[in-house]
Amino acid sequence: EEEVIHCVGCGAVIQISDKEKIGYTPSGALKKGLEKGEVYCQRCFRLRNYNEIQDVSLTDDDFLKLLNKIGTKDALIVNVIDIFDFNGSLIAGLQRFVGKNPILLVGNKVDLLPKSMKKSKMTQWLRERAHEAGLRPIDVMLTSAVKQHEIEQLKQTIEKYRDGKDVYVVGVTNVGKSSIINAIIQNSAGIKDLITTSQFPGTTLDQIEIPLDDGKAIIDTPGIIHRNQMAHVLGEKDLKLISPKKEIKPKVYQLKSKQTLFFGGIARFDFIEGEEHAFTCFMSNDLNIHRTKLENADDLYLRQVGDLLQPPRLDEKEGFPPLVRHEFSIKEKSDIVFSGLGWVTVQKPGAIVAGWAPEGIDVVIRKSIV
Ligand code: GDP
Repeated sequence: EEEVIHCVGCGAVIQISDKEKIGYTPSGALKKGLEKGEVYCQRCFRLRNYNEIQDVSLTDDDFLKLLNKIGTKDALIVNVIDIFDFNGSLIAGLQRFVGKNPILLVGNKVDLLPKSMKKSKMTQWLRERAHEAGLRPIDVMLTSAVKQHEIEQLKQTIEKYRDGKDVYVVGVTNVGKSSIINAIIQNSAGIKDLITTSQFPGTTLDQIEIPLDDGKAIIDTPGIIHRNQMAHVLGEKDLKLISPKKEIKPKVYQLKSKQTLFFGGIARFDFIEGEEHAFTCFMSNDLNIHRTKLENADDLYLRQVGDLLQPPRLDEKEGFPPLVRHEFSIKEKSDIVFSGLGWVTVQKPGAIVAGWAPEGIDVVIRKSIV
């Protein structure tokens, strides 16, 4: 029978097989730890030695358990989302799970959006979308962890709302939760001598505490992987290509009805009916957009996916899921959102459009962000 070893920092069950999951320890480090009689997981090791948080993920079930536990605590909840992927970064049922605890909503990666967009309008937009999704945040902020933008402001806002309590930072994977915590750590004289302690010893709901001056802590929790992320249909290289790294330069297309735009071979936008007007695409600058006639679109896709229409690459075309069509009729200036890829802003009410995305990837309509 195998002996279960727990991390002395966070209590996670030590494992040597999956780097992304909690409790991961390189086997060499495990051996050394066993000799010393104290084993740290890699996440705790990094925090102790380099003052650096690393992101890890949990399975759905364990994530629900984690949320339930948080609901029983008296704490401020900081929910980090990716402003570029709002729908993809929501945690279903978060409001219900956190109980009476206040939620501070942080829209990260604001550096990806065009500088011309007004921060106050975006904050208001984020607040409205959060309410639509059933979240009632006590406040809403926009940050950039990589540009260290508004990090000082975030610290002050956390201080204001936590009211002497602990702070739980939650988010789905890849929203920049670790980057934000690292920016806070680097930015703080008050947070030092990083130690990690186990909140719930012996459980697998493991979290890392970053002590605050008053004996309370900022608690980093593992993220959850959203099932309908592009990561499940694209290879690593293509995922990099479609994930914007710097400020998006929106591309504007003057479209007549019965025209189609292809976004590589990953997504497609049809303007079916309505007045000719300008459509604005917010996607990675590296993604190729190809315009064609609607009547030729199906045929073009069949012939050119993996070739003219990339990604996917030619050798990935075989296993690539078919594009699924979602039709929308436009009532107000709206974004057609391709989850994890970006969106197309449709200006004119009355238009009928369709968005296509690989099977399993959401296409949704929302009030325009601009
Ligand atoms: P976590 O899984 O939520 O902890 O996310 P990470 O902190 O590991 O970040 C995921 C990815 O997003 C990394 O490639 C980061 O470099 C990137 N990232 C994090 N914060 C920002 C940000 O403010 N702006 C941009 N453009 N990228 C960011």
